[in-house]
Amino acid sequence: MAENFSKNGKIGVTTENIFPVIKKFLYSDHEIFLRELVANAIDATQKVKALASSGELGGELGDLSVRVELDEAAKILKISDSGIGMTAEEVDKYINQIAFSSAGEFLDKYKDKIGSIIGHFGLGFYSAFMVSDKVTIDTLSWKEGSKAVRWICDGSPEYTLEDSDRTGRGTTITLHLDEDASEFASKSRISALLGKYCKFMPFPVVFGKKTEWKDGKEIETAEDNVINNIDPIWTKTPTSLTEEDYSKFYHALYPMEDDPMFHIHLNVDFPFHLSGVLYFPKIKERMAIDKNKIQLYCNQMFVTDHVDNIVPDFLTLLHGVIDSPDIPLNVSRSYLQSDANVKKISSFITKKVAAKLEEIFKENRADFEAKWDNIKLFIEYGMLTNEEFCEKALKFALVKNDAGKYYALQEYKDAVSANQTDKDGNVVCLYATDLQAQYSYIEAAKAKGYDVLHMDCELDAHFVNLLETKMEKCRFARVDSDNVENLIKKADEIKPELSEDDKKSLDSLVKAALPAEGYEFVVEARNLGENEAPVLLTQTEFMRRYREMSKMGGGFNFYGQMPESYNVIVNMEHPLVKKFWESKDETLIKRLCSLALLGAGLLKGKELSDFIKNSYELLG
Ligand code: ADP
Repeated sequence: MAENFSKNGKIGVTTENIFPVIKKFLYSDHEIFLRELVANAIDATQKVKALASSGELGGELGDLSVRVELDEAAKILKISDSGIGMTAEEVDKYINQIAFSSAGEFLDKYKDKIGSIIGHFGLGFYSAFMVSDKVTIDTLSWKEGSKAVRWICDGSPEYTLEDSDRTGRGTTITLHLDEDASEFASKSRISALLGKYCKFMPFPVVFGKKTEWKDGKEIETAEDNVINNIDPIWTKTPTSLTEEDYSKFYHALYPMEDDPMFHIHLNVDFPFHLSGVLYFPKIKERMAIDKNKIQLYCNQMFVTDHVDNIVPDFLTLLHGVIDSPDIPLNVSRSYLQSDANVKKISSFITKKVAAKLEEIFKENRADFEAKWDNIKLFIEYGMLTNEEFCEKALKFALVKNDAGKYYALQEYKDAVSANQTDKDGNVVCLYATDLQAQYSYIEAAKAKGYDVLHMDCELDAHFVNLLETKMEKCRFARVDSDNVENLIKKADEIKPELSEDDKKSLDSLVKAALPAEGYEFVVEARNLGENEAPVLLTQTEFMRRYREMSKMGGGFNFYGQMPESYNVIVNMEHPLVKKFWESKDETLIKRLCSLALLGAGLLKGKELSDFIKNSYELLG
């Protein structure tokens, strides 16, 4: 055996000490050191396995677990592997020169935008100094005849390289946690971090021993506590998996969530590598959906759970895992969207999601309909925000009528076109947003043999606009946007003949019978026949839709600030209106208007109580 050796040196770094820089810039994300070190250990393990399978490795592979050990009292954390290890020359090259200078480069490049680097990938070994005042590497290379070496560095650019007493192949990194990092000298903290970053790493990661409860005390067993699942389902072929496997995996990822609606297994090797499983969650509270539940992995290493900029916005509503080594990780988030691979990946995922939905729609229509109400928001959002998805989704998006029957868009158009085409050849789709409040209007439409859709989703106002641009010769009108004759105009109506003076007088008499404040009324005389209501309040489709959109934000605020505007349709052919018009009886028009206000849900306060009182008097 050669003589013991010891060598002191200076780390190959051009700038002055970067340790304070490492500590300062990544202040909030010190915890990633653990992922970086375990990732290096896994890397070294993967390499030794590859050497064994190519026959280059002499001797046994042995146990390939990566072991994490913590001495809480001494504040010492160790990460050990049985990987390829390093020779003294390699330590010098990889640690003293390359690792240090690449850490320096990394910090130089990103010190302004460190917070926006995806998962802070790439800092590597030197992230150990974010939490330690002294770091030791004990390592023995796989190469025959190698000697174990120990590298010690106390956080200054000086290091010591000496003999190590390590006997087995591989590397142990020992961190002497510093004062500021004492939070990491806690088993529960390390355990949580391993759970976050290393849950699916491809070799067993062992943290201490499994414990069990005995006589009211928690005691250690002899069994290793493996914290990860080395072959998560996204690494397997879909045909080898059951529905239960997918469901189990979902609940392991999201213990608090209900069962998902369905899943999509992603697996592609060209032109990029990507695998993963995405789940459609059950959307309960629609406007309070959790975004960013998709976890991004790189070769089974957790990177981030903020995948915005990687998948289109609507897909961030999904849950699950994406694993791709082809997503650039040590770049800023804003750069990502313009990256060619990321663009391809985003488009691939969109296509896959659309294809899966279409498949269920075609092959299991009943299932698709049963799930529709829970996925509708997702699909409408996707159609509104993603052109590519929209074109595909026009084939399988459903609408539901007030009786709960579902139709695909084209099916619906075909079903109602015979009876609901107006004089200009447009198919008019009628819809209600509130089946209770719009009951009388729905009944009137159905009495004419019309069908009424039920649209109660927050996005429907926008969605209806979209459908009008996508579906040829098709128009949407809310049931209460006009009287039933006018909703779908089949012929030109003969207007009542009123002189300008008559019009003015009708206008002032009717307005006097309506609330003076809070609303704007436009009075219109029409001939609707004896059987239609005498007075009817409607809100134009256009105004109402824009008002609803303005409530959701998005540039339509102008309409949101205007007073609510209603059309007051006075049916001059109704006997009671005729009577009023001859007598100019103010009490009569007041009653007729109050009934209309009541029907539209606008009669409130004193007006309402007066109306009720008067009605009792009328009854005698
Ligand atoms: P990176 O892993 O991105 O190359 P690091 O700074 O983390 O950068 O590590 C630098 C180099 O040190 C690695 O490329 C590897 O050659 C070597 N190294 C680090 N950790 C280990 C380990 N546990 N076993 C063997 N070699 C290692």
